[in-house]
Amino acid sequence: MQSFLIRGAKVMDGSGRPPFRANVAIENDQIRLIGPEVRESAEQAVEADGLILAPGFIDIHSHTDGTIFKHPLSQSKILQGVTTEVVGNCGSGPERVLIASLGSSGSAGLSGKTIGQIAALWNCPPEEAVIRLLLREKANAMAVYFSLSEKDVETIMASEQVAVGSDGQGMNADEDAAATAHPRSYGAFVRVLGQYARE
Ligand SMILES: [Zn+2]
Repeated sequence: MQSFLIRGAKVMDGSGRPPFRANVAIENDQIRLIGPEVRESAEQAVEADGLILAPGFIDIHSHTDGTIFKHPLSQSKILQGVTTEVVGNCGSGPERVLIASLGSSGSAGLSGKTIGQIAALWNCPPEEAVIRLLLREKANAMAVYFSLSEKDVETIMASEQVAVGSDGQGMNADEDAAATAHPRSYGAFVRVLGQYARE
């Protein structure tokens, strides 16, 4: 039997009630006890010393469905506390999307333009411009998306009704050079806690 104890944590259980100090005992990968701070023994113990202890985060919008078989450890999620992911719910309007880089050198003039501008250039609807661009570049296109102003994000983050999705992917840390990983894959929940909760 494997036992593990976290002592003196500030537990936020996700119910919305204020945090409370407790010990949490885990046995065979299951929580056995969330109780008052009494001295208990376990094979392994951690002194939390008032640090926050919470259930795993739910990433309500991610793309790990495309990477989970290649990166089964999904450390990009585990390292920031995500234990459940919702996938297959992506989508946004194309017009304001800004093209960052394209696969072929012949399309260099289109980098830095929005889909709306490219559509006007080609005299077609933005949806058609996206399809034409993807076919022409063999799907090798990087884009920047602008959806919200920072002020709107701050207002939204302050609501208790808000859940957070990374739009990122589960990745194995030792197989992916950090330089090529989008920051959202490792940093989405870290940013929520650091910038919007702490600061
Ligand atoms: Zn998405």
